[in-house]
Amino acid sequence: MSHYRGRFAPTPSGPLHFGSLVAALASFLDARRAGGEWWLRIEDIDPPRCPPGAADEIQRQLTAFGLHWDGPVLWQHDRDDAYQAALDRLVALGLAYPCSCSRKQWREHAVYPGWCREGVREPGRPVAWRLRSDLGLRPVVWQDRLFGEQRFDPAELGDVVLKRKDGLWAYQLAVVVDDAGQGISDVVRGFDLLDNTPWQRQLQHALGYPAPRYLHLPLIIGEGGQKLSKQNLAPALPTDDGAVRPLLHAALVALDQAPPAGLRGAPVAEQLAWAIAHWEVSRIRPEPHRTRDALRSD
Ligand code: GLU
Repeated sequence: MSHYRGRFAPTPSGPLHFGSLVAALASFLDARRAGGEWWLRIEDIDPPRCPPGAADEIQRQLTAFGLHWDGPVLWQHDRDDAYQAALDRLVALGLAYPCSCSRKQWREHAVYPGWCREGVREPGRPVAWRLRSDLGLRPVVWQDRLFGEQRFDPAELGDVVLKRKDGLWAYQLAVVVDDAGQGISDVVRGFDLLDNTPWQRQLQHALGYPAPRYLHLPLIIGEGGQKLSKQNLAPALPTDDGAVRPLLHAALVALDQAPPAGLRGAPVAEQLAWAIAHWEVSRIRPEPHRTRDALRSD
C-alpha cells in the first residue's frame, strides 16, 4: 500500500461544485486511508475553456475543505513535449494517424468510421491525430473497484482524437501521459469518465505504461435529475468555514460513509480525520445519488 499515489485532476473551466467535491474527497480519502500520496493536476489543455483565475479558485476551494495535496501542482499547459513524444511513439507504432475529416462529413455515423486510417483523405487540409482503436488491446477489460468487471470493445467507441486540428491536445492522451508520468497508482473519479477508460487503457498498453487501479464514483445528480455541472449552473463551492463544514459533511453522506450527525458542525480537520479512519469503498452504493439526499444529512 505504500506505493499508493492518487490524484485529483480538475479542468479549470470554472470553480468546483458539489459533484467535484465528492470526487476530490473520495480520491483524497482513498489515498490517505492507504497511507498514500494525493497529487493535484490542473488539466488546462484547452485555454479557451479555462477563464483566468479559475485554477487559483480551485486551489483555494480545496484548501478550504482541508484537501491538501502532496508534491508540486502539475499544469498540463507545461506538458507539450511529453504529449508530443507520446504521439510520436504511437505514430511510429502505427497506432495513431492524421485525419482531415470534419465532423460534418461523418455525421451520419455514430462514431468516426476511420476513413483516414490508410492515408489522409484530403491532403493539405489541417489534420487531427486519432488513435487506431481497431488495433492494440481489444477488448479492454478491467475491474472497477465499485462497478466490477468492465468490458468494452474500443473499436465500437471509435478512433478517439489525441491532438485536435487547432493543435490543442485532447484529454485522452494528456491524462494517460500524465497519470504515467506522475506515477499514479489509483484513479478515483466520477462515473461520467468511466467510458473514457477503454481508450485510456488502450493508450497505456500501447505506450507500455502500467495500468492504474480504477474506482469510478456514482454520479451526483441535481434534484431535477440532471448531472451536476457548470453548464447546469451547479453552485460554486464556498470557501468560508461556516459554509464549508456542513457541505463537507454532506459530501461524506453522498459517499455513503454515514458520518455521525454530530460531526456536521465540526472543524474540517476533525471531519477529515474521522473520514480517513472510517473510509470504506464497500459502503458506496453505485446508483446515481441525488444532492437532495446528500444534503439531508441529519
Ligand atoms: N479533467 C477531468 C475533469 O475535470 C478529469 C480527468 C480525470 O479525472 O481523469 O472532468
